[in-house]
Amino acid sequence: RKKKEIAVEDYVSGIKSGDRTMLARAITLVESHTNRHFTVAQQVIEQLGSVKTNSIRIGITGVPGAGKSTFIDSFGTYLCELGYRVAVLAVDPSSEVSKGSILGDKTRMERLSNNPRAFIRPSPSSGTLGGVNRKTRETIFLCEAAGFDIILIETVGVGQGEFVVRSMVDFFLLLVLTGAGDELQTMKKGIMELPDLVVVNKADGDNVSKAKQAMREYNTILHFLRPYTEGWTTKAVTASALEETGLIEIYKEIEQFIHMTRNNGIFEKRRTEQLKEWFDSSLKDKLYAQFFYDEKMKESLLQYEKLIIDGEKTVGNSVNELISLFLNKKE
Ligand code: GDP
Repeated sequence: RKKKEIAVEDYVSGIKSGDRTMLARAITLVESHTNRHFTVAQQVIEQLGSVKTNSIRIGITGVPGAGKSTFIDSFGTYLCELGYRVAVLAVDPSSEVSKGSILGDKTRMERLSNNPRAFIRPSPSSGTLGGVNRKTRETIFLCEAAGFDIILIETVGVGQGEFVVRSMVDFFLLLVLTGAGDELQTMKKGIMELPDLVVVNKADGDNVSKAKQAMREYNTILHFLRPYTEGWTTKAVTASALEETGLIEIYKEIEQFIHMTRNNGIFEKRRTEQLKEWFDSSLKDKLYAQFFYDEKMKESLLQYEKLIIDGEKTVGNSVNELISLFLNKKE
């Protein structure tokens, strides 16, 4: 009845040799809620710890319909043709609410999902949400250990996702469509300050001149904003994910960016920062889970809620007492 458990060493050697089934199963462990899986996942990560890679992490965001999956299919395929091994992940902090994933779906990236140099991981289904941050960072790490050189991380540009992803990547790309004015209304405030490159997609057919106009508008806006990456000028370009135009220019921008940030130390600095954030978010996740998922704490929490509502305890004292209770808790 029980599926045979895979040993830690088998995960490790499988991932190191680029075995994608092992990689996929290790990611499943990382995404799991159970303590047992958590323990094994951490052992796998620990043993993989010494793997050195030259990976590039690229975040891709845009409103639904901007063409993210079409773009990733085309651009990812192009990167594979250049000789890279490409992993595609999705961060979808909204999936808990929207039920089911709208990102990273294999069927939406048909060509890339059939490419032996590519690995596509659909976003975790709803219910696996706790700790998106840590889980995504660990998944990136596993993909890199499995030999993927370029990690594309997709997210929808309407919620918190883009801010989370920005903090995990080296390069951030915003995919947009129409006139800057209209679209900026539907995008979250502050999003224009995040990207290292803005790509006006669907610059094909009758839409070419409109896309060029939008590109100029975006360039005007960007001109007045401080670029997210010091020393780098974020600009807007046009592309067609469908007709596969503009991809070479986009690749060249990324290449130039990586070259610059590796030379001026920003690349390394950012990676160190990311490691610290990984630690920070993991710690917070764990504390949060231990407190709020613990049966005893849940019970006490309800009791204190009642005491507060009945006016018998202050909020401040309740918090202090709950924390003492938590710290003195016997397993
Ligand atoms: P997503 O929601 O951002 O992932 O967008 P999709 O990739 O699913 O694309 C939404 C729609 O736009 C689909 O019908 C695509 O075929 C279409 N589309 C995507 N890229 C282009 C493009 O470059 N040109 C044109 N004309 N249509 C595109």
